[in-house]
Amino acid sequence: MSKQRAKLVVGNWKMHGRLEANATLLQAIARRAAALPADVRVAVCVPFPYLAQVQSLLEGSRVAWGVQDVSANAQGAYTGEVAAEMAREFGASFAIVGHSERRAYHYESAELVAVKTQRALEAGLTPIVCVGETLEQREAGTTEQVVDVQLGEVLAKLSSEEAAQIVVAYEPVWAIGTGRSATAAQAQQVHAFLRAQLAAKGAAVADVPLLYGGSVKPDNAEELFRQRDIDGGLIGGASLKEADFIAICEAAAAASAAQAS
Ligand code: PEP
Repeated sequence: MSKQRAKLVVGNWKMHGRLEANATLLQAIARRAAALPADVRVAVCVPFPYLAQVQSLLEGSRVAWGVQDVSANAQGAYTGEVAAEMAREFGASFAIVGHSERRAYHYESAELVAVKTQRALEAGLTPIVCVGETLEQREAGTTEQVVDVQLGEVLAKLSSEEAAQIVVAYEPVWAIGTGRSATAAQAQQVHAFLRAQLAAKGAAVADVPLLYGGSVKPDNAEELFRQRDIDGGLIGGASLKEADFIAICEAAAAASAAQAS
């Protein structure tokens, strides 16, 4: 029997937030996350300007923090970009890379995402590598080919020791922000495919956390997180609401307990 993996729930605030509202939300999440079992890890990925705020409010709590992108370059004349090392200086643990909004609106290629993954790892951040198909690609039956290329490009650039340190998030583009989540069975099918792809890179890589993202809400989270290859979630809209985000973290705890029994 394979060992049980911890659950990980990560909020992606996208371009939302204001100092005052952030403080209320972060303090509530930190307070309530303290009651979660040890096998549920929680993090929030915030806009860059709020890194100092999250560091001062979350330091010493059960909630880690991170950013939503990093530059492909370590430093230099790249106006407007933010280096992974800079985020690390503010105590960040995670960096989302290759979110579908960046692939779509900033034309990020699979290769660029792979380089960003390397930069994040070099800086000591855990990259959360996002992959996922569009509705058109799903309807054309090419979901597995699409995620295979997206993840394959990243794995090709990493040693197996490096690959063992990443997190992968399967986020079908048609489910993000639409209120239309993948069913648990649809998500599990793609996660099993990704798990096999990771395992082919080495035994240690097989157990990297595989998150599902796309309209996760309190009422569908537990069923998703109970699936064999779903180790938690990347949460957009619901991560901005204290009660919803905490309920999703509690669903991860319930799913973990169910899997252990
Ligand atoms: C996301 O942006 O990564 C996401 C999953 O968004 P939502 O939960 O709002 O669908």
